[in-house]
Amino acid sequence: MGTAQQLQKWQRVLLPAVIVALLASGIVGCGLVVQVREASQSASHAHAERMLAAEALLAALFDRSAAMRGYLLAGDADLLEQRKAARANIERQLGRLRARAVDGTLLADVDTLLARLDDANDRAIERYATSAADAHAIWEADSKPVQEQLAQVIRELGATERAAFGAARDRAAAAFERSSILLGVLLAVVGAIVTVLFSLYTRATRELVAQIAAEQEQATFRLLEEVPVGIFVLNARGKPHYANRHAQKLLGKGIVSSSPDRLAEVYQAYEAGTERLYPAERLPIVRALAGEVSECSDVEIHHANEVVPLHVVGAPVRDLRGELLYAVAGFQDVRELQRHAMRDALTGLANRAAFTQIYNRERSVSARAGRSLAIGLIDLDRFKAVNDTHGHAVGDEVLRRTAAALVGALRRSDVVGRWGGEELVVLLPGTDEQGAWRALEHALIDVRKLTFTGQDHQTFHVTFSAGAVVVDVEASEAIEDAVKRADALLYQAKAKGRNRIEIAA
Ligand code: GH3
Ligand code: MG
Ligand code: MG
Repeated sequence: MGTAQQLQKWQRVLLPAVIVALLASGIVGCGLVVQVREASQSASHAHAERMLAAEALLAALFDRSAAMRGYLLAGDADLLEQRKAARANIERQLGRLRARAVDGTLLADVDTLLARLDDANDRAIERYATSAADAHAIWEADSKPVQEQLAQVIRELGATERAAFGAARDRAAAAFERSSILLGVLLAVVGAIVTVLFSLYTRATRELVAQIAAEQEQATFRLLEEVPVGIFVLNARGKPHYANRHAQKLLGKGIVSSSPDRLAEVYQAYEAGTERLYPAERLPIVRALAGEVSECSDVEIHHANEVVPLHVVGAPVRDLRGELLYAVAGFQDVRELQRHAMRDALTGLANRAAFTQIYNRERSVSARAGRSLAIGLIDLDRFKAVNDTHGHAVGDEVLRRTAAALVGALRRSDVVGRWGGEELVVLLPGTDEQGAWRALEHALIDVRKLTFTGQDHQTFHVTFSAGAVVVDVEASEAIEDAVKRADALLYQAKAKGRNRIEIAA
């Protein structure tokens, strides 16, 4: 699986997983803390309530005792009412304690002692009607010790609850601390996992970006492989990075790891016509490294048995921020350039400029030698129909093969050129009108024999018409004039039905 797909898969799975993990750990952690906190709080809360009830019970007991004493001292009936109210309060507090499931034995003790106290009190009140002194005596002897015993039991109850409350509070604090630590650990673990996943994700992204850049570079370089120009690339640090097929052919070497100032030596680049290595600082590729665009035509590569003169162009390649990415040199064999400049690309024949040069030279040679020189203008018949019926590619094929047939049919000393479009010219040294007619007739026979395959695999043949004249070499006739005269004859050949050669009568 490619890094891009992996990354997409990651994106689909990773991000939701991270979000869910964070949410889940947050919710679980907080829920845990809250639960622990509530559990311990409710435990300590129950103890606190019982502790308060015990204290209220003790207070109510003292109230009743105070009311009782007051009555025995003053005989005020209101105090008896107060005693009653305090007794009711005692019952209420006892109810609270029972409802909160307090220690059973202590409560049973309270109940027993309370019954005894009630009993003693009732007896003292009864006796008060007859003898206050006796009533006091009963209270002192019976009620007071029971009262104290009861107070002691209730204090014990309160102390037990207070201790339990303290313990519960300590436990709650400890539990809270533990659960907080747990939550911290949980969040730290989730955080660590998220960090690891995030760093993996970032690495995958970086790898993807690098992979895309490499693929783009490869695609560019693949394209450059087919270019008929030598391409040599240095990276931004000046190290040779790429050389296309044509460059390797011209340099006679692949990519050799070298520093820029040793390039001339490594690739045997010399100043043209000398045995001096080309100065590194003047090499266009080295200047490109410094951000300059430059060219030179005075460098040549020395192979063991050949010297290749080069025309070199160098330029820097920058990224979007303007940082140098590569220094690139494009170079061509100057001889090849000259050949290209003189050749017609489709047919490989001399083009009009080259043909004119050859014509002028042949005309002088012929004038000096007193030899005749003929020129013929050839035009394919109904060639437009070939293009229209079979397409331009087939038309090109016809032109190419017709040109080759002409070259094959004529002498080695004859020259065939492309005058333009589907018009070809032939130069026939040492030839008069009759000779030219025979040569062109011979060529026409060969061309008629060519079989072409067109659309729908149907085969067809072509013919041409031509007009030929003998050049006025004495008067140094210009090529345009000679071609013009030949063209007039060509026009006649077309008029007479095509597929024929016309010469001056
Ligand atoms: P004729 O000369 O017999 O009078 O008829 P023709 O159809 O050949 O006439 P014309 O000169 O009008 O047509 C020339 C055609 O040649 C038109 C042009 O598209 C085609 N042609 C010229 N140069 C090329 C070429 O390089 N490739 C192809 N495929 N066609 C070309
Ligand atoms: Mg034409
Ligand atoms: Mg034609």
